[in-house]
Amino acid sequence: MARLQRKARRASATGAPRVVVVGMGFGGLATVKQLTRAGMRVTLVDRNIYSTFQPLLYQVATGGLNPSDVAYPLRGFAHRYGARFRRGELVHIDDAVRKITLSHGEKLDYDYLILAIGITAAYYGITGADKHGLAMYTRRDAVALRDQILAWLERLSEEDQGRCLAITIVGGGATGVELAGTLAELRNIALPTAYPDIDRSRMRIRLVEQAPVLLAPYNPSLREYAHRQLLNRGVDVRLDTKIREITADHVVLAGGDHLPSDLTVWAAGVMAPDSLGGWGLPQGRGGRIRVGPAGKPTARFEYHDKGIMATIGRRSAVVQLRYGMRIRGTLAWFAWLALHLVTLLGNRNRISTLINLAYRYLTWGRGGALLVDSDPPAN
Ligand SMILES: Cc1cc2nc3c(=O)[nH]c(=O)nc-3n(C[C@H](O)[C@H](O)[C@H](O)COP(=O)(O)OP(=O)(O)OC[C@H]3O[C@@H](n4cnc5c(N)ncnc54)[C@H](O)[C@@H]3O)c2cc1C
Repeated sequence: MARLQRKARRASATGAPRVVVVGMGFGGLATVKQLTRAGMRVTLVDRNIYSTFQPLLYQVATGGLNPSDVAYPLRGFAHRYGARFRRGELVHIDDAVRKITLSHGEKLDYDYLILAIGITAAYYGITGADKHGLAMYTRRDAVALRDQILAWLERLSEEDQGRCLAITIVGGGATGVELAGTLAELRNIALPTAYPDIDRSRMRIRLVEQAPVLLAPYNPSLREYAHRQLLNRGVDVRLDTKIREITADHVVLAGGDHLPSDLTVWAAGVMAPDSLGGWGLPQGRGGRIRVGPAGKPTARFEYHDKGIMATIGRRSAVVQLRYGMRIRGTLAWFAWLALHLVTLLGNRNRISTLINLAYRYLTWGRGGALLVDSDPPAN
């Protein structure tokens, strides 16, 4: 890494192009690594001082990981690659003079600007979805859901046996399946020891998907396996089911049925962040930025698909690799665990995640399931 820092000093002395990269998710981090290696003067910008490892957010939301386990500090990353970090939210681009403005007023000059700002939830105009739906894209989203679940469990423990907690997850993709499976395990295995006074039938988990299958991009045998695993864990899976409206305590289906839902998690679609609309950039479907003439890429782009995986719970996952290789069950679960530990950023995060997940999965039934840090909101 000292080599990269020397390179950065040389880049600065020789007047190498200044590149500003906005957004430090997987995309931004990978871009910065390549550009600093190529000798550019790179400035990283993000509204947070950390990069979030989204694939494990559902573990934060269910109290299996600490929020810090999925946060990778950006200042240390910038230092290692000889780049500069500025915290702030991009609010304005003036491409005529090659300048961006951040929310606190700071202006940054660039020769090249790279936007890697990720996505946000798409609600497709469903009434109440943006107001009452809980998203799962940021650390704050995951912590908010975790705190609400804990507050609800405390409430159930204090109140009479008539009260139930109904959780609806909208969207049967990987996020929805992983969250539903983990919540079901939390109820089935952890609840009896952590909350012995709550009968587990008082926590209901429902997964709603408008398509006829879960995990649409997967091979049918893996989809069916995941579906069966969720049913075995007591998840109420509703396929071919559209949501028409979300209220504070109900979801309304397209057919008119009202189903109780105290917490509704929206994992059903993504689009470009709204803020993009104010930056004067040409946009296409779902708000995507159009690049190159007629929206075509300016250079040939090859995507190497390594495969897809999703976990349903302890010793249960599905993996579909390139060239059609498929694994499911315990082996797939260990593959999922290993891959997430390898791709997680920062050795410290890897160690704490390994400890926390091992602790969770080895001590589920002995009260070791739930991590807490902030106080759950008062009832
Ligand atoms: C719950 C969940 C589970 C997932 N699981 C998997 C999985 O198992 N495997 C897999 O391959 N993928 C998974 N994904 C998808 C994967 O996480 C995303 O594809 C990936 O994170 C996208 O990276 P990105 O760099 O495009 O954007 P992001 O990671 O979203 O990063 C965007 C960054 O831009 C910053 N930003 C946004 N707007 C501004 C602004 N105006 N100014 C400054 N900064 C800004 C944000 O703070 C953020 O740091 C999952 C996603 C989610 C949400």
